[in-house]
Amino acid sequence: MQPAGAATAAALAEARRLLAVGATPLELDAAAERVIVGLGGRSNFKLVPGYRHTLCISVDDDVVHGIPGGRPFRPGDIVSVDGGAEVDGWNGDAAFTVVVPDPARPEVVAAREALAAVTEHALWTGVATLARARHLNEVGAAIEDAVRAEGDYGILTDYVGHGVGRQMHEEPPVFNYRVDRRSPVVKPGLVVAIEPMIVAGSIDTFVRDDDWTVTTSDGADAAHVEHTVAVHHDGIWVLTAEDGGAAALARYGITPVPIP
Ligand code: MG
Repeated sequence: MQPAGAATAAALAEARRLLAVGATPLELDAAAERVIVGLGGRSNFKLVPGYRHTLCISVDDDVVHGIPGGRPFRPGDIVSVDGGAEVDGWNGDAAFTVVVPDPARPEVVAAREALAAVTEHALWTGVATLARARHLNEVGAAIEDAVRAEGDYGILTDYVGHGVGRQMHEEPPVFNYRVDRRSPVVKPGLVVAIEPMIVAGSIDTFVRDDDWTVTTSDGADAAHVEHTVAVHHDGIWVLTAEDGGAAALARYGITPVPIP
């Protein structure tokens, strides 16, 4: 699964590099696809029935599954970019959230950057917990506690993380909150996408008329970050991070281990 993770990481890095005022979601989408194809893969989002793009790009109150369009990014936008690659029949899936700079609205930018930071913290708390967990649902409990400690944020419950393998979306579900039910044992060979979706208001959402875009009902801002993480005999490795997650996980006391 490492080539698929690497292609996913490279595609999202290119999207992040291009994301700026005046650029369009469609431009990022095309660039991400070029990167994936150039690395011998194909977009696994395009394999989802009815979806025609390589990325999902969700702005402001859109949480996930936003369809890339031609409206340029504006100063102050909070933008979540989600994408994945399939290489040699294996999949990767990852997402990041950034705030477009806006010197004219420092309060808006600060609030949105705080939301993005909480969501990043939630993700890495989940990854670090996976490294130590006996049962998968410990991940969601840790994410919930981490988000609650940061303030008055909502954790979406309509959508959750998932296993990754031959298909982009596989069992088991990976919750971003505490659930009281039997949970898979964390053991070598488990590969999951951990993907907290955090909002600055109510967790109630609806799907826009385009049949894809998930939006907060109260118009509150939303953020979404994701990585595909492998559990192996010697530890964990974040397949969709160029360094396996080493830099981000240092603060959580976890050192990812390359897959032998
Ligand atoms: Mg996913």
